[in-house]
Amino acid sequence: MNDVTALRKINTLCVFCGSSEGNDPAYLQSAAQFGLAMVKSGMDLVYGGGGKGIMGRIATTVKAGSRRVTGIIPTRIHEMVKHIEHDEDELIIVGDMHERKAAMYARADAFVALPGGIGTLEEVMEALTWLQLGYHDKPVGLLDTAGFFSHLTAFLSHMVDEGFLRSVLFDTLTVDSDPMRLIERLQRVPLDLPAKIAHP
Ligand code: AMP
Repeated sequence: MNDVTALRKINTLCVFCGSSEGNDPAYLQSAAQFGLAMVKSGMDLVYGGGGKGIMGRIATTVKAGSRRVTGIIPTRIHEMVKHIEHDEDELIIVGDMHERKAAMYARADAFVALPGGIGTLEEVMEALTWLQLGYHDKPVGLLDTAGFFSHLTAFLSHMVDEGFLRSVLFDTLTVDSDPMRLIERLQRVPLDLPAKIAHP
């Protein structure tokens, strides 16, 4: 995956991000920039559904660029947010959070988290955990708008230093503040990880 002839094809990108907008307008702006970078790269979007916060902004931008937007939402959340205008080409309503994640993981070729809260954190860490365990072989990235993820990457680095996280896995986590560069790096990042059964 190290040269231009071996770009990973990412047709569908799963984006995890905040259902809130955050306090800094930069978060919504960079969500729109990331959506445009997805459109330019010919990528469709899978996300959690609905039109709230950063989630709504990425969906609107990708849809406006004529790429396909699929929302996957559990019944319970759908009941809470269905009055909010949103923009999916397809909204898949599933029974619970486990079904939602399985459906998202099956459809996506890569995962990216944009700034968000504990829902975002949980989803992106699970995607990385599944990569570690060999349940998928899809790249995982963070759009580091305004250094939003710097505390998380510092903590993950601390896990490596303390012998709880393999550096080969940490090194696959692709972190970039520039939307197009992040996408290009996800297309190239090597993922030849031995599945972790127990810590070596
Ligand atoms: P958070 O980062 O805590 O705002 O949670 C965002 C993540 O949790 C998203 O990626 C969704 O998968 C899920 N989620 C939380 N709130 C909602 C909502 N109102 N509508 C749809 N999904 C949501």
